[in-house]
Amino acid sequence: MRAFACPGCGQLVPFEAVTCLVCGTSLGFAPDTGEIVASAGRVPCANAVRAGCNWLLAPGEDPGGLCLSCRLTRTRPHDADLTAGSLTGEAFRAAEGAKRRLVFQFLELGLPVVPSGGKPGLAFDLLSSAEEPVVTGHADGVVTIDLAEGDDAHREQMRRELGEPYRTMLGHLRHESGHYFWTVLVEPDPQARTSFRALFGDERADYAEALRHHYEGGPPAEWVSRYVSAYATAHPWEDWAEAFAHYLHIRDTLQTAASFGILVTGPRLEPELMAAPHLEPDDRVEDILDDWLPLTYALNAVNRSMGRDDLYPFVLSPAVVAKLGFVHQLIVSRGTPPNPRGSVKGSRPLPVP
Ligand SMILES: [Zn+2]
Ligand SMILES: [Zn+2]
Ligand SMILES: [Zn+2]
Repeated sequence: MRAFACPGCGQLVPFEAVTCLVCGTSLGFAPDTGEIVASAGRVPCANAVRAGCNWLLAPGEDPGGLCLSCRLTRTRPHDADLTAGSLTGEAFRAAEGAKRRLVFQFLELGLPVVPSGGKPGLAFDLLSSAEEPVVTGHADGVVTIDLAEGDDAHREQMRRELGEPYRTMLGHLRHESGHYFWTVLVEPDPQARTSFRALFGDERADYAEALRHHYEGGPPAEWVSRYVSAYATAHPWEDWAEAFAHYLHIRDTLQTAASFGILVTGPRLEPELMAAPHLEPDDRVEDILDDWLPLTYALNAVNRSMGRDDLYPFVLSPAVVAKLGFVHQLIVSRGTPPNPRGSVKGSRPLPVP
């Protein structure tokens, strides 16, 4: 994520800002320019209250309409269940907030954000399991999220039961949308499919059988040397989705650190590489990781100083680095995103708060 400044006074404001706490300017995020702007004169997303959305419509967009992120939500709980203070309402707003970060990063990286609207594209069903069972997953571009995952107590219980070191709503969204981007980046390209199978295995293996086997028998011993997580061992598609999610974790967190001027002494540091949303095919994933690993050591140490768990509780083996490199090449080879703002080269310097 980039660092944003209030257009009125220059104070740092978060991506979620609706008002500047220093000068009182009403703010919103403009997806058409990729900036936090004064909301005066612009139309807010129709889901501003319901989804806690601070995005603004682009000039000329339907004034009664939804922003790009909210438009992607195909199904959500009934309005009566979304009242302020209700568990479902808070979980829905938490999920929508995480989704806006997801969509922002897709735009930054130049990944296509195409609302499905009946055609092939991306859509989200954000469902409450309070009334009927909901399985978080992906099918044909539709990402289904169990909103109970937005409840901290429930999610922590699930994390412990499944023995996972990390479980967040944003992580779920990155993983599940990774399944969709497999169908965009890998499936249509015979060469990418061949490379995919060499790195991740043959995705034509029976998926239901593979998952049953995983949940019954657990991950293979020594999985750490070949996979980024125990769940990645379940099936080549899960391995890809985990690698894709990790790639997004790494690129977003590096961009945030660089945007705030956080530099950790490491073997070689390239702030421009850390911050730039768009990279060239000759920027190697190993170069990104040279910046990433020292930062994770520092941030893990900071978390431990506060008595918290590690921010990044993962080990990246050479086999995993190769998989991340595959994801990286597929994304950067798509060319420059339409709105490549915020690279260190192109953006104005950060104001001193
Ligand atoms: Zn201000
Ligand atoms: Zn919205
Ligand atoms: Zn999955």
